[in-house]
Amino acid sequence: MLVFEDLRRTYGETVALADLGGSVADGEIVAILGPSGCGKTTLLRILAGLEEPDAGRVLSDGVDLAGVPPDRRGFGLMFQDHLLFPHRTVGENVAFGLRMAGMPIDERRSRVADVMDVVGLAGMDDRSIATLSGGEQQRVALARALAPRPRLLMLDEPLGSLDRSLRERLVTELREILKELGIAAIYVTHDQDEACTIADSVVVMRAGRVEQQGTPPSVWHRPANAFVARFLGWADVADGIGIRPGGVRLDPDGDVHGIVHRIGFRGDHFVVGVTTVDGRALTTSVADTPPESGERVRLTVDADAVVQLSESEEF
Ligand code: ADP
Repeated sequence: MLVFEDLRRTYGETVALADLGGSVADGEIVAILGPSGCGKTTLLRILAGLEEPDAGRVLSDGVDLAGVPPDRRGFGLMFQDHLLFPHRTVGENVAFGLRMAGMPIDERRSRVADVMDVVGLAGMDDRSIATLSGGEQQRVALARALAPRPRLLMLDEPLGSLDRSLRERLVTELREILKELGIAAIYVTHDQDEACTIADSVVVMRAGRVEQQGTPPSVWHRPANAFVARFLGWADVADGIGIRPGGVRLDPDGDVHGIVHRIGFRGDHFVVGVTTVDGRALTTSVADTPPESGERVRLTVDADAVVQLSESEEF
């Protein structure tokens, strides 16, 4: 449905996008994942038509979108700073795009009611934006973006300003809503958990390029290189080898000997950092009583958790 080819964008010396390509199928949710400054927002702005690429093309159903303004592309947009109208009601905010498009009032009313229901805000039409919590405002922004029934919704860190537990809940709900409505989406984030939760396909970016694209489990289990593994939160990546999280465990009969150098508390488990006798740092976790810092321990490393990882090219 959406294809982009050889997209290039530079700002002075900075290469924001370096000949980037990709695609989104009908109804597919694609997460664009990468560290701050890797070009995620630039990509989204170009796809949305808010910015022109220096080179490359964006095609929708095979039609080149060069010169087509954002409001003619049929894409919905939802950004972190969602810019709701604070002095208008929820209903007025949600109806905004429909009114601009000249939709008759009866149709507009029923469309707003439908979409408010979908995002879990039914009955809140008359509330003023200023009286809503951050999470509720995010739902209003989502309802506003969904109301015109876009074929593709673009979301740039839409939940970035919310606390972690609310974010986890909303991202799961958001996936259910998009799937129920059959809307394709591009979801930009720097959070690997969010990307893996929402997406059918994850694109890992670095410095304006794609490092890897695949389903969340395939990227998680087979990172293309050390950069991707580290970015996904693999703790033990060194010397061309990575160990999949969960692949190391404390074991009184284990054949790897080491000394505990770090204990971290994570709520439902402890993370235990061990330096092995041959100087390698390994990480494991335990549910209850952790060993003490400085204690000698033995570990078992699962052979099938050990993965060869090339250091990715530096640029
Ligand atoms: P991300 O969304 O992944 O954080 P961006 O797409 O915002 O990354 O930025 C990519 C690179 O382009 C960064 O180095 C950023 O500083 C630079 N950049 C983005 N927009 C501009 C701009 N308007 N002027 C100058 N540099 C920019």
